[in-house]
Amino acid sequence: MDFGLEQVPMPECPPGGVLLRVHTCGLCGSDLRTLRSGHRKVTLPWILGHEISGQIAQVGDRYPGPGRQGDRLSVAPLVYCGRCDFCQSGQYELCEDYREIAQAWHGGFAEYVAIPEEAVQNGTIRLVPAGLDMALAAIAEPVSSCIHAQEKGAVGLGDTVIVMGAGPIGCIHITLARARGADAIIAVDVSADRLAQAKRFEPDALVSASESDLPKEVRKLTNGRGAEVIITANPSPQAQVQAVEMARKGGRILLFGGLPTTESCPRIDMNLVHYNALHLIGTTIFAPRHHRQALQVLADGRINGQTLITHRGHLEDFPAIANEALDGRVCKAVIQP
Ligand SMILES: [Zn+2]
Ligand SMILES: [Zn+2]
Repeated sequence: MDFGLEQVPMPECPPGGVLLRVHTCGLCGSDLRTLRSGHRKVTLPWILGHEISGQIAQVGDRYPGPGRQGDRLSVAPLVYCGRCDFCQSGQYELCEDYREIAQAWHGGFAEYVAIPEEAVQNGTIRLVPAGLDMALAAIAEPVSSCIHAQEKGAVGLGDTVIVMGAGPIGCIHITLARARGADAIIAVDVSADRLAQAKRFEPDALVSASESDLPKEVRKLTNGRGAEVIITANPSPQAQVQAVEMARKGGRILLFGGLPTTESCPRIDMNLVHYNALHLIGTTIFAPRHHRQALQVLADGRINGQTLITHRGHLEDFPAIANEALDGRVCKAVIQP
C-alpha cells in the first residue's frame, strides 16, 4: 500500500467531542498490517494511528469532560456500542458492536485529531496522570490489552510464564508478568534480533525457537514440569501447537495473537488439553478499567515503558520509520508531530 505525508484541512471540533493537538501517536503492529495489505474497515486515503495522547486544543459546546482546554488526554481507540448485553452488564471487553478511532474516524498520525462525541460517551478516554510522559500515555493502549489478557489468565505469584513472541507485545507481557509477581519468565522467539530486544526486559531465560527443540528446552528449564502460563504473542499456528505441549497440568494458555485466516486451524493435540486439564483462553481488546490500570502502572514505573520505545520521530519521519518497522527492525516507534 502507498503511504506518505499530505496536507489536509484542520479537522473540526465535534460539538460533543474535543479537538486534540496530538502529542504522541504510537505505531502498532496492526498499523503495519494495514500499511502492508490494507484493511477491510479502512477506505483510502486515510489517517491511521490509534495509540494517541494529546492536549485538548478545543472542546465542543456539549463536551462533558474529562478535562478542558489545555489538559492532557490519553485516548485508546475503542468506542463500545453501549447497548449490547455485554456493555449493559459492564463487560465492555466483549462488546459485540464496537468501533475504533483510526477506522471509523481518522486517527492520530496528524497534528490534530477530532475525538468524536461517540468516543466521549462510550469510549476510552482518560486524563493523563500527573508526571506521566505523554509518549507512555499514548502506548497505554497495547498495555491495556496485555493487562486484560493477564487478568483473564490470572498470572501471578508462583507462576512460570512463557512468552512466545518477543515483539513489543511480548516485551510488554514480560514486564507485566514480572509486575504481577510471576516466579520465572521465559521469552521465546525465532528471531535473534527480537530476542536481543526482549533481553532488555530481563526475562529469566531466552530461548530461540529456531535453534532449539523448544518443548524439550522448556522441560529442561522447568525441571520437567512445564509452565503454568503460556502467552502466544505472535501470529504463528505452530506456537499454539507447542504451547499445549509446554503447559504444566492445569496450565493456562493465553491466545493473545490472532492467526492469519488461512492458517487459523492448527493441529492441536486436544487429548493433551483434556488429560492435562488445560485452559485455552482467547483474549482480544480490553475494557476501560484496563486502560486506567495501564496508565497507573506506566505512571508508577511498574511497567518499564521507556525501554519499549526504540524509535521516535516527527510526522515527516513517518515513511522512513514505518519502512524500518515493516522490515522488523523496530520494537515500538512513536510519532510526535
Ligand atoms: Zn495498537
Ligand atoms: Zn457493546
